[in-house]
Amino acid sequence: MNAFVPSKNTKKKEGRRKTSTKRAINEPSTSIAASIAAQTNDETARMLRTLLGNLDGMVYRCRDDAHWTMEFVSEGCRRLTGYDPEDLLFNRRVSYQAIIHPEDRPRVQEEVRAGLRNSQRFDCEYRILHASGDWRWVWERGTGVFDSEGRLLAIEGIVQDVTARKRSLNALREAERRYYNLFENALEGIFRTTPSGQFLDANPALARIFGCDSPLDLMRTYTDPEKQLYVDPGRRAQFIELVNRHGSVSGFESQVRKKNGEIIWISENARAVYDEDGRVVCFEGTVEDVTERKLYQARIEQQANYDTLTGLANRSLLNERLQEAIANAEKDGTRLAVVFVDLDRFKFINDSLGHHVGDELLRAIAARLKANMREGDTVARLGGDEFVLLITGERDPDAIAAVLERMLKDISQPWSIPQGDFTFTCSMGVALYPDDGQTAETLLKHADSAMYRAKETGRNNIQFFTAQLNEAITERLELENNLRRALERQQFELNYQPRIDLRTGAVIGAEALIRWRLSDEQTVEPSRFIPVAEEVGLIAPIGKWVLETACAQNKAWQDAGLPPLVVSVNVSARQFRHDDLVHTIAQALDRTKLAPCYLEIELTESAVMHDAERFVAMLNELNDLGVQIAIDDFGTGYSSLSYLKRFPVDRLKVDRSFVQDIATDADDATIVRTIIALGHNLGLKVVAEGVETAEQLAFLRENGCDELQGYLFGAPVPAEEFARLLRSRQSSSG
Ligand code: C2E
Ligand code: MG
Ligand code: MG
Repeated sequence: MNAFVPSKNTKKKEGRRKTSTKRAINEPSTSIAASIAAQTNDETARMLRTLLGNLDGMVYRCRDDAHWTMEFVSEGCRRLTGYDPEDLLFNRRVSYQAIIHPEDRPRVQEEVRAGLRNSQRFDCEYRILHASGDWRWVWERGTGVFDSEGRLLAIEGIVQDVTARKRSLNALREAERRYYNLFENALEGIFRTTPSGQFLDANPALARIFGCDSPLDLMRTYTDPEKQLYVDPGRRAQFIELVNRHGSVSGFESQVRKKNGEIIWISENARAVYDEDGRVVCFEGTVEDVTERKLYQARIEQQANYDTLTGLANRSLLNERLQEAIANAEKDGTRLAVVFVDLDRFKFINDSLGHHVGDELLRAIAARLKANMREGDTVARLGGDEFVLLITGERDPDAIAAVLERMLKDISQPWSIPQGDFTFTCSMGVALYPDDGQTAETLLKHADSAMYRAKETGRNNIQFFTAQLNEAITERLELENNLRRALERQQFELNYQPRIDLRTGAVIGAEALIRWRLSDEQTVEPSRFIPVAEEVGLIAPIGKWVLETACAQNKAWQDAGLPPLVVSVNVSARQFRHDDLVHTIAQALDRTKLAPCYLEIELTESAVMHDAERFVAMLNELNDLGVQIAIDDFGTGYSSLSYLKRFPVDRLKVDRSFVQDIATDADDATIVRTIIALGHNLGLKVVAEGVETAEQLAFLRENGCDELQGYLFGAPVPAEEFARLLRSRQSSSG
């Protein structure tokens, strides 16, 4: 409330005063309106009014008092404040001070006063309350108007609405703050580098990933990232090359060295930033530590493609490699050898020394196989003791044979474990591409067949696949197919061979022996088709048929009034291992109404001894059923005396191979004598099989054998013929 006193009628004065607008602002005691009127003609006044009216903002003149009492406001007032100029002038409805935000008032005052004090113009930003009730941001620029003595007459200036600008600025700041937060707090590392790779920016996460204390530490540590960071020195060049080609890279994985030297895997997403001329200004992007994922992937891959026991390739990786190897051999015109390797008698080791030692052995064999293979060739384990080798890049089969021979020799080197020194051998079968097959499947199949051939020819040797072998395979496949239909085509028959009591010469039993009649001329030996039936799972139905037919036949003979005898039925190892056997036998007896004491089950020595512990119970069940039990082919396998003692066995059948030469071969004679003594000691009857000559009979009688079977007394014959034989004996003895 300085010396400035408003004139009562400003408008009138405006008209009379002749001061320029410019002077009006600078010269004391002259109002703008007055000066307009005074200085110019009507046209100029109109023009100035128009300009002021259209000015985006409010031009004012006010007093330096507590209300900022307005003496003049331009038309812009309406838009700026929402009030008519009339309302604001001389605080008629509202004072300017009143519409300034209370929080901003002291500051506004301070800034205005400071300007006035120094006779300088002032700028300030603050909020005003618009008549609509909204707060608006305004920017004011003003200056004091002084008289010639320097007394302040008024303040003049302009106020503009800057709400929109202020808002967008705030939004910008907010966005910036948010981005900064993202940058600072991101879990991913974020960087900006120069085109040559020096760090321009790095966030704390990146520092953490690289094992640095802070972004600054990181930038100081990695002054030459190309050399210091990437484990593969060419990696950075590949990165640049990709970015140059595509403008960006994503998921670019590399191994990098942390500050402490530790090596980790990272994945980078990055892009190049260009200037207007298309030159790269910098690279920017993100970095993720993917070490965990990489390790996990490696583990999964290992599990999916490698054998856990030996670390060798597994079946699935072998198939993949085999396809590749075939493609390469075709392209290069070289041979490829697919080799099946199978340890000889591995099962025996596993059973006798335990699985733990068996596993050790497999690992040792894997190592020996690998040691003899070239880099790039494959050694795979299919499971159990089966291995497959892929030998590539050879043209000469002899060279392949040489490699395998070396391997065979190496494998048979003694193997030392705490339990002692052991020697192992293996059998190998080879199929060559392109000679023996074109596809992975055929090559594997043929190598497998060759390996079986190697087993057959005495083990510890290498067999190459041959045309004859192929023929044998074809034949065997044919046999298998026919065998599948033999039962329904009723091609099986049983022959019966008499068993004689040595003391009385009476027929006391009959061994049922199966015959397969393919046609009138063609029959197949049991020794040929029984193993096949076992292998393809046909032995159970065939065995059941034999059991029922033999029981029924025996019952029929008894019903026909023939002297009762025991019928012996051969049960194969595979059939015996089938849990159903006891049930099948009980069922056969039940159906045919044959008394159990007239049935004998023949089991081969190897079948029972193979898993003796397990079969004690089963043999006891058979015994409980009331059937007799004989051990067939005795002397050809290995027997444990302790088990023999525990088994509820009735008979031992001395194998024909020993009986054959008892009269001439001292060893065989000793063996047979021993078996007879052993059997008797255990309280068992001893039967000699394959007795053909009087000399053999004499020897057996002399040594106290109990029963006999052989061509000397009768070959196996069909049931009717056997019945005739029984009848004739019945009549001759009766
Ligand atoms: P195996 O049980 O030892 O049967 C004795 C074999 O010796 C029979 O051969 C028989 O014909 C033959 N044989 C008997 N006496 C003499 C002789 O004086 N001299 C000669 N050289 N041989 C004689 P086969 O019938 O060819 O049977 C061979 C093997 O096939 C049998 O040996 C048995 O292990 C098996 N087999 C036969 N029938 C069946 C069956 O129904 N089921 C099962 N699982 N195996 C059977
Ligand atoms: Mg037999
Ligand atoms: Mg036998």
